[in-house]
Amino acid sequence: MSNKSVLIVEDTPINLKMVRVIMQRAGFDVRTATSAEEALEVLRHFRPRVVLTDIQLPGIDGLALTKHLKSSPDTRDIIVLALTAFAMKSDKQRALEAGCDGYITKPIDTRTFPDLIRQFIGATDDAASISESASTRDAAPFDFSLDNLKQSFIANGMQQSERFVNSLNTDFNYAEVQSEAHRWAGAAGQIGYVEIAECARQLEALLHQRGTDSLTLVRKTLMRLVQLFSGAREAAGPVRP
Ligand code: MN
Repeated sequence: MSNKSVLIVEDTPINLKMVRVIMQRAGFDVRTATSAEEALEVLRHFRPRVVLTDIQLPGIDGLALTKHLKSSPDTRDIIVLALTAFAMKSDKQRALEAGCDGYITKPIDTRTFPDLIRQFIGATDDAASISESASTRDAAPFDFSLDNLKQSFIANGMQQSERFVNSLNTDFNYAEVQSEAHRWAGAAGQIGYVEIAECARQLEALLHQRGTDSLTLVRKTLMRLVQLFSGAREAAGPVRP
């Protein structure tokens, strides 16, 4: 088992890409999965030192994945770190109860993230095995241009949110809109669109309740998202191919 191998489990594409790029640049051997089910499949052939897992995942969530890994002699030595969007005490508590070795709140700090992971590895391994740590390799500030990611996120968000508004009177799909709202919340928070993240989180919570009386509020929140996406698009300038 390489000391610098990591499996990232994250269902939000922008977050997955960002963590992958950061860890690869820091010299880690990286694999990725967008669900716990896929992660288990990857783990049949790849034994990472660290699993970084989002807590909220479609299907089996990150906590259940952690319990599973910690209950098997084959995988219990893997360091499992939970990634979560909320700095809620209850989430932290639940992560630790599930057996996570640590807990990292999103949005992550791209400059210090690899060192943070190394610290978790260092705390677990004996000091000798981490002699080649930190500092030299990525001493330069991490400069990750997000322009293209941001623009495609905004363009896609505008298109989808308008489509969802139009579907309200016809074939509104609660599950689809809820999972899209979850992705918006996670991605927008990570790339700095705080208002979109907040609004998407409200929408996700509303749809989670699924009361028919909340449909007016769902419509209002969706319209607000259309506005926010459109405002962000104007601020971001023309979309490049
Ligand atoms: Mn998620």
